[in-house]
Amino acid sequence: MLVILSGVAGAGKDTIKKELIKRMENVESLPSFTSRPMRKGDVEGETYHFVSKEEFEQKIKNKEFYEYDVHHDQYYGTSKKLLNDKIKSGKIIVKDIDVNGTEHLKELLKEDTKIVTIFLRVPKEELKNRLEARIDKPSPAEVKLRLNRFDYEESRINLYDYVLKNDHLEKTVQIIMAIIENEQKIKNN
Ligand code: 5GP
Repeated sequence: MLVILSGVAGAGKDTIKKELIKRMENVESLPSFTSRPMRKGDVEGETYHFVSKEEFEQKIKNKEFYEYDVHHDQYYGTSKKLLNDKIKSGKIIVKDIDVNGTEHLKELLKEDTKIVTIFLRVPKEELKNRLEARIDKPSPAEVKLRLNRFDYEESRINLYDYVLKNDHLEKTVQIIMAIIENEQKIKNN
Protein backbone atom coordinates (compact mmCIF):
# COMPACT_ATOMS: atom_id res chain seq x y z
CA MET A 1 0.00 0.00 0.00
CA LEU A 2 1.21 3.48 -0.84
CA VAL A 3 0.20 6.40 1.39
CA ILE A 4 0.73 9.77 -0.28
CA LEU A 5 1.03 12.86 1.91
CA SER A 6 0.71 16.23 0.20
CA GLY A 7 0.44 19.84 1.24
CA VAL A 8 2.64 22.86 0.61
CA ALA A 9 6.17 22.97 2.06
CA GLY A 10 5.79 23.86 5.73
CA ALA A 11 2.52 21.94 6.16
CA GLY A 12 4.27 19.40 8.40
CA LYS A 13 4.55 16.46 5.98
CA ASP A 14 8.09 15.59 6.96
CA THR A 15 7.48 15.57 10.70
CA ILE A 16 4.33 13.49 10.31
CA LYS A 17 6.06 11.02 7.99
CA LYS A 18 8.84 10.52 10.55
CA GLU A 19 6.32 9.94 13.35
CA LEU A 20 4.39 7.35 11.31
CA ILE A 21 7.60 5.45 10.50
CA LYS A 22 8.65 5.52 14.13
CA ARG A 23 5.30 4.43 15.54
CA MET A 24 3.92 1.98 12.97
CA GLU A 25 5.23 -1.45 12.10
CA ASN A 26 5.94 -2.05 8.43
CA VAL A 27 5.74 1.65 7.49
CA GLU A 28 8.71 2.99 5.55
CA SER A 29 9.61 6.02 3.48
CA LEU A 30 10.49 6.05 -0.19
CA PRO A 31 13.08 8.72 -0.82
CA SER A 32 12.76 10.54 -4.16
CA PHE A 33 15.69 11.49 -6.34
CA THR A 34 16.44 15.21 -6.53
CA SER A 35 18.97 17.56 -8.05
CA ARG A 36 18.54 20.17 -5.30
CA PRO A 37 21.47 20.84 -2.98
CA MET A 38 21.41 19.14 0.42
CA ARG A 39 20.07 21.25 3.29
CA LYS A 40 20.88 21.10 6.95
CA GLY A 41 19.26 17.94 8.33
CA ASP A 42 19.20 16.14 4.96
CA VAL A 43 20.62 12.61 4.90
CA GLU A 44 21.54 10.93 1.61
CA GLY A 45 19.19 8.00 0.98
CA GLU A 46 16.86 9.06 3.80
CA THR A 47 15.37 12.44 2.93
CA TYR A 48 16.32 12.11 -0.77
CA HIS A 49 18.82 10.51 -3.10
CA PHE A 50 20.89 13.51 -4.15
CA VAL A 51 22.22 13.58 -7.71
CA SER A 52 23.48 16.26 -10.09
CA LYS A 53 21.22 17.79 -12.77
CA GLU A 54 23.18 15.84 -15.40
CA GLU A 55 22.72 12.54 -13.57
CA PHE A 56 19.01 13.27 -13.15
CA GLU A 57 18.64 14.03 -16.87
CA GLN A 58 20.38 10.75 -17.70
CA LYS A 59 17.89 8.90 -15.49
CA ILE A 60 15.01 10.62 -17.31
CA LYS A 61 16.47 9.39 -20.61
CA ASN A 62 16.77 5.87 -19.19
CA LYS A 63 13.08 6.04 -18.13
CA GLU A 64 13.95 5.30 -14.51
CA PHE A 65 11.11 7.44 -13.07
CA TYR A 66 7.37 6.85 -12.73
CA GLU A 67 7.05 10.60 -12.63
CA TYR A 68 9.25 13.62 -12.16
CA ASP A 69 8.72 17.35 -11.87
CA VAL A 70 10.63 20.60 -11.48
CA HIS A 71 10.10 22.66 -8.33
CA HIS A 72 12.02 25.85 -7.61
CA ASP A 73 14.32 25.04 -10.57
CA GLN A 74 15.25 21.58 -9.27
CA TYR A 75 14.24 18.12 -10.41
CA TYR A 76 12.34 15.67 -8.18
CA GLY A 77 11.33 12.17 -9.22
CA THR A 78 9.99 8.80 -8.07
CA SER A 79 12.16 5.82 -8.95
CA LYS A 80 10.29 2.91 -10.54
CA LYS A 81 12.69 0.34 -9.16
CA LEU A 82 12.74 1.59 -5.55
CA LEU A 83 8.94 1.85 -5.42
CA ASN A 84 8.31 -1.59 -6.97
CA ASP A 85 10.85 -3.33 -4.72
CA LYS A 86 9.27 -1.95 -1.54
CA ILE A 87 5.68 -2.61 -2.60
CA LYS A 88 6.58 -6.19 -3.55
CA SER A 89 8.09 -6.80 -0.13
CA GLY A 90 4.70 -5.88 1.46
CA LYS A 91 5.73 -2.57 3.02
CA ILE A 92 3.42 0.36 3.61
CA ILE A 93 5.17 3.27 1.96
CA VAL A 94 4.58 6.82 3.11
CA LYS A 95 5.52 9.25 0.39
CA ASP A 96 5.59 13.01 0.51
CA ILE A 97 4.72 14.30 -2.94
CA ASP A 98 3.06 17.33 -4.53
CA VAL A 99 -0.32 17.44 -6.30
CA ASN A 100 1.00 16.86 -9.81
CA GLY A 101 3.09 13.89 -8.71
CA THR A 102 0.07 12.48 -6.87
CA GLU A 103 -2.08 12.74 -9.98
CA HIS A 104 0.55 10.93 -12.09
CA LEU A 105 1.16 8.18 -9.55
CA LYS A 106 -2.56 7.53 -9.02
CA GLU A 107 -3.00 7.09 -12.75
CA LEU A 108 0.12 4.94 -13.24
CA LEU A 109 -0.30 2.64 -10.25
CA LYS A 110 -4.07 2.30 -9.85
CA GLU A 111 -4.23 -1.19 -11.39
CA ASP A 112 -1.40 -2.66 -9.26
CA THR A 113 -1.22 -0.88 -5.93
CA LYS A 114 -3.63 0.35 -3.32
CA ILE A 115 -3.06 4.09 -2.93
CA VAL A 116 -4.36 6.25 -0.08
CA THR A 117 -3.98 10.00 -0.58
CA ILE A 118 -3.97 12.58 2.22
CA PHE A 119 -3.74 16.36 1.88
CA LEU A 120 -2.55 18.42 4.84
CA ARG A 121 -3.95 21.92 5.00
CA VAL A 122 -2.49 24.83 6.83
CA PRO A 123 -3.76 28.45 6.82
CA LYS A 124 -1.71 30.72 4.49
CA GLU A 125 -0.63 33.12 7.28
CA GLU A 126 0.40 30.23 9.51
CA LEU A 127 2.38 28.73 6.63
CA LYS A 128 4.31 31.98 6.15
CA ASN A 129 5.19 31.99 9.86
CA ARG A 130 6.28 28.35 9.81
CA LEU A 131 8.47 28.82 6.73
CA GLU A 132 10.22 31.78 8.31
CA ALA A 133 10.77 29.86 11.55
CA ARG A 134 12.42 26.82 9.90
CA ILE A 135 16.04 26.03 10.84
CA ASP A 136 16.81 25.75 7.13
CA LYS A 137 15.13 29.14 6.71
CA PRO A 138 14.38 29.75 3.00
CA SER A 139 15.37 33.07 1.39
CA PRO A 140 12.61 35.72 1.00
CA ALA A 141 12.46 34.89 -2.72
CA GLU A 142 12.00 31.21 -1.92
CA VAL A 143 9.28 32.00 0.65
CA LYS A 144 7.45 33.98 -2.06
CA LEU A 145 7.75 31.10 -4.54
CA ARG A 146 6.37 28.67 -2.00
CA LEU A 147 3.44 30.91 -1.08
CA ASN A 148 2.58 31.31 -4.76
CA ARG A 149 2.36 27.55 -4.98
CA PHE A 150 -0.13 27.54 -2.08
CA ASP A 151 -3.18 28.63 -4.09
CA TYR A 152 -2.45 26.14 -6.85
CA GLU A 153 -2.12 23.18 -4.48
CA GLU A 154 -5.25 24.18 -2.55
CA SER A 155 -7.20 24.26 -5.82
CA ARG A 156 -6.41 20.56 -6.42
CA ILE A 157 -7.52 19.06 -3.10
CA ASN A 158 -10.42 17.21 -4.72
CA LEU A 159 -7.81 14.68 -5.91
CA TYR A 160 -7.39 13.42 -2.34
CA ASP A 161 -9.14 10.72 -0.32
CA TYR A 162 -8.65 12.67 2.94
CA VAL A 163 -8.11 16.38 3.64
CA LEU A 164 -6.87 17.18 7.15
CA LYS A 165 -6.14 20.44 8.88
CA ASN A 166 -2.77 20.06 10.54
CA ASP A 167 -3.21 22.41 13.46
CA HIS A 168 -2.08 19.94 16.13
CA LEU A 169 0.69 17.49 15.35
CA GLU A 170 -0.28 14.73 17.78
CA LYS A 171 -3.92 14.80 16.71
CA THR A 172 -2.97 14.66 13.02
CA VAL A 173 -0.59 11.72 13.57
CA GLN A 174 -3.28 9.80 15.48
CA ILE A 175 -5.84 10.42 12.74
CA ILE A 176 -3.47 9.29 9.98
CA MET A 177 -2.52 6.15 11.93
CA ALA A 178 -6.23 5.32 12.21
CA ILE A 179 -6.70 5.95 8.48
CA ILE A 180 -3.81 3.60 7.61
CA GLU A 181 -5.07 0.85 9.92
CA ASN A 182 -8.58 1.08 8.54
CA GLU A 183 -7.49 1.23 4.92
CA GLN A 184 -5.47 -1.95 5.45
CA LYS A 185 -8.59 -3.71 6.74
CA ILE A 186 -10.57 -2.54 3.73
CA LYS A 187 -7.91 -4.07 1.48
CA ASN A 188 -8.15 -7.40 3.30
CA ASN A 189 -11.93 -7.69 3.13
P1 5GP B 1 11.77 20.14 -0.77
O1 5GP B 1 12.90 20.62 -1.63
O2 5GP B 1 11.22 21.23 0.10
O3 5GP B 1 12.17 18.92 0.02
O4 5GP B 1 10.57 19.67 -1.73
C1 5GP B 1 10.04 20.53 -2.71
C2 5GP B 1 8.82 19.91 -3.36
O5 5GP B 1 9.15 18.72 -4.11
C3 5GP B 1 7.74 19.46 -2.37
O6 5GP B 1 6.50 20.02 -2.79
C4 5GP B 1 7.74 17.96 -2.50
O7 5GP B 1 6.46 17.42 -2.23
C5 5GP B 1 8.11 17.78 -3.95
N1 5GP B 1 8.62 16.42 -4.24
C6 5GP B 1 9.43 15.64 -3.48
N2 5GP B 1 9.66 14.46 -4.07
C7 5GP B 1 8.97 14.47 -5.24
C8 5GP B 1 8.81 13.52 -6.30
O8 5GP B 1 9.35 12.40 -6.29
N3 5GP B 1 8.04 13.91 -7.36
C9 5GP B 1 7.42 15.13 -7.41
N4 5GP B 1 6.67 15.40 -8.48
N5 5GP B 1 7.55 16.05 -6.43
C10 5GP B 1 8.31 15.73 -5.36
